[in-house]
Amino acid sequence: MPEAVLVAGGAGYIGSHAAKLLHQRGFHPVVVDNLVCGHRSAARWGTFVEADLADRDQIQAVLLEHRIRAVMHFAAHAYVGESVRDPAKYYRNNVANTLSLLEAMQAVESDLFLFSSSCATYGEPREVPIAEDHPQSPINPYGRTKLVVEGMLRDFETAYGMRHVSLRYFNAAGADPDGELGEDHDPETHLIPLVLEVARGARPHIAVFGTDYPTPDGTCVRDYIHVSDLAEAHVLALEHLLAGGESRSYNLGNGAGYSVRQVIEGARRLTGHPIPALEARRRWGDPATLVGSSEKIRRELGWTPQLPGLDTILETAWRWENGKRRAAGPLGR
Ligand code: UDP
Repeated sequence: MPEAVLVAGGAGYIGSHAAKLLHQRGFHPVVVDNLVCGHRSAARWGTFVEADLADRDQIQAVLLEHRIRAVMHFAAHAYVGESVRDPAKYYRNNVANTLSLLEAMQAVESDLFLFSSSCATYGEPREVPIAEDHPQSPINPYGRTKLVVEGMLRDFETAYGMRHVSLRYFNAAGADPDGELGEDHDPETHLIPLVLEVARGARPHIAVFGTDYPTPDGTCVRDYIHVSDLAEAHVLALEHLLAGGESRSYNLGNGAGYSVRQVIEGARRLTGHPIPALEARRRWGDPATLVGSSEKIRRELGWTPQLPGLDTILETAWRWENGKRRAAGPLGR
């Protein structure tokens, strides 16, 4: 019988790509999602259970019923700006609900955990590329919630023997190369989908948040990593834990930085659309440059991104964006 993996938040952007890959690799994904942000249509592989992580009894029942071997946890709010305005929402969902999930696991002696962490736990980088031993000093509530959970996992390991891998993503982007899944946030705040929405005529322009950063062209530099490469890292980390491997924290990025202007330029080349860009004020909480070193997971687990180039990331996202247009008419969703 295939090993069952609970995918919390598996109807969301990254979780749905992971569920698909788990299925392809012979695991049985059991997607648990409350559908507040996720989409039922994205949970197409394995079993789907509509449930909230705060409902410990129900989660416990799912863990037992499906003989869950390991848990991948993607369910979280992830808007930095919103976390500043409404930290309670972030601490409740990202911290309290994660605690509830961990307690459910503890109660049924389920002990393998894969956590979606973030480069936001590092805060303003002291050096780039950022390695895992860079000090973690987040500058916004979102990053702090992720850091609290990382600490919680270390304490749960010491006390209860639960092993974990924390995966610190840089900028997740792109879409399933088969065109079955992609990014669909409401509201959308991320650069790449917004730029592509301009290209398909759903928005008049893209605002460039800050043009006076200490970077080569004055705009923020980010390390964009394809969502399918993130999914692959999760499966490798799962296999590491299943083989008895120790708890780890790993960065997931390509180690290459692209500025906001370079992303827009790449999208213009790809789509042939002029993509009007308006210079705007800096967005609060944005470090100038975030580029990660992922040498550790490459060395230890043999992770090698298969879709590292910005052009590929944009191409897959553009195919997804056009699929959405077909589904929703020329100017809407
Ligand atoms: N950005 C921008 N205009 C937008 C959205 C984002 O200039 O409409 C910039 C943002 O300031 C950051 C980069 O694009 O420097 C990536 O932002 P995104 O929200 O995609 O990811 P984040 O870095 O916040 O995880």
